[in-house]
Amino acid sequence: MRLLIISDIHGNLEALQAVLREAQGRYDRCFCLGDVVGYGADPQACAALVRDVAAVVIRGNHDRAFVAPESALDFNPIARLAVEWTHNQLDAATRAWLESLPAGPVLGDGIQLAHGSPLDEDEYITSTAQAAVLLAGAGEPLTCIGHTHLQGGWRMRGERTETVARNGALPLDPGQRYLLNPGSVGQPRDGDWRAAYMICDEGSAEFFRAAYDLAGAQGKILRAGLPPTLAERLAAGW
Ligand code: ZN
Repeated sequence: MRLLIISDIHGNLEALQAVLREAQGRYDRCFCLGDVVGYGADPQACAALVRDVAAVVIRGNHDRAFVAPESALDFNPIARLAVEWTHNQLDAATRAWLESLPAGPVLGDGIQLAHGSPLDEDEYITSTAQAAVLLAGAGEPLTCIGHTHLQGGWRMRGERTETVARNGALPLDPGQRYLLNPGSVGQPRDGDWRAAYMICDEGSAEFFRAAYDLAGAQGKILRAGLPPTLAERLAAGW
């Protein structure tokens, strides 16, 4: 079973379509780790597409902001503005779907799926020390997380936790545990503007980047009256 793992789409339809086009025929099922909406200009279309294509979707903190608006109070002003704008773009059925998304961790095909971390959906896992704690307590060989918008991850061999290479197929050794982040489809923050995703099976995982119509996505953000910085950051990949 080959799995397409996507996360943090953030309403960027051009990026999502590019990933699905590029991955077409190379996966059997798709899992989404949350943040389908928020920031980008196409929340409604992205939600419809994810709903159609993904077998399992868990909620991210931006998706939750529609269920529990008070949870957006600690968002920065631009994120909060995007939440309010996005709210007005969604029809009732899409809002209901977002509200129905389960919080992680959820098990899909033996893989633990979480937005921030299995312990806290809002936690940003960025360090090897954090990864080591999670891997030491992991019940499954592979855990997939999103939220940081940073593609990559860690492996625990015996007592030792180390970062994994991001290029080429990463063999998944059954004797080791892995914590992998597919990166963000719609708003990468690792200096590479291209849409990030991951494809894995029982034996290996591989990270990919898909070029997409960046100018198209940026133009929609500007025309929608969303903060221009949300368009600018897409080009820089931050
Ligand atoms: Zn996100």
